Amino acid sequence: MKLVSLKSITTLLLPVLLCLPILTSADEKDQDKASWSYEGATGPSHWGDISAENITCKQGKNQSPINIKRTFDARLPSIKFDYAVLNSENIVNTGHSIQVNIRSGGLIKLDGKDFLLKQFHFHTPSENMIDGQSFPLEAHFVHASEDNELAVVALLYQPGPPDAALNVLVKNMPMNAGDTNRLGAKDIEFFERSKKIKEYVRFNGSLTTPPCTEGVRWIVVKKQPTLSRSQLNAFQKALKHPNNRPIQPVNARIVVH
Ligand SMILES: [Zn+2]
Repeated sequence: MKLVSLKSITTLLLPVLLCLPILTSADEKDQDKASWSYEGATGPSHWGDISAENITCKQGKNQSPINIKRTFDARLPSIKFDYAVLNSENIVNTGHSIQVNIRSGGLIKLDGKDFLLKQFHFHTPSENMIDGQSFPLEAHFVHASEDNELAVVALLYQPGPPDAALNVLVKNMPMNAGDTNRLGAKDIEFFERSKKIKEYVRFNGSLTTPPCTEGVRWIVVKKQPTLSRSQLNAFQKALKHPNNRPIQPVNARIVVH
């Protein structure tokens, strides 16, 4: 009697047991995609292995960030920044970065194309380096064109007096992963500007986070704003860990200014 019932239970369970490995691996895959980090087994040197979607992280030849060393004069035209009235949505602690989402109002023109500002976020310490020098903070202003090409404008911050624009973010800083704070219409007006930027370097690169997609136009602004020690502390406290991907090989790329 016991044997029979055991057998019937096994028979009943068999399809479930067979399904389990499949369910587990699918589940794991989903988790892996979400669970990259900046250290240990899910850190930058493993990004290319933790999900098939991240293959470019290890096989790409135009990866970001880079150490900007030799640049060539390409007589680049100035870039017109039309950030007249930024309509911000919120400031989010994604666990990987501190990000300000933008509803509308930011536009740059590159290669005859309009790129709209979607969000900007921060890395500490900086991701890109100049002549091997790292900076305490780097802002990435992420723009997308209508056909979904990306242009990232990077600002490198030097230690020094506080930055007025950052103060507003520090005041509204979401302190823990998953936290979101609303931003008022006036909160990010310090980032609003309409001007031409002449001094910058440009290169082809990638997203600096999985899936490390390439084909991103990178603009690193030469003029560096400053931030104070306490402003930097606020970012470090909210992020709880460095969030910079290590420098990637330049390979055959040419960096122009
Ligand atoms: Zn970034």
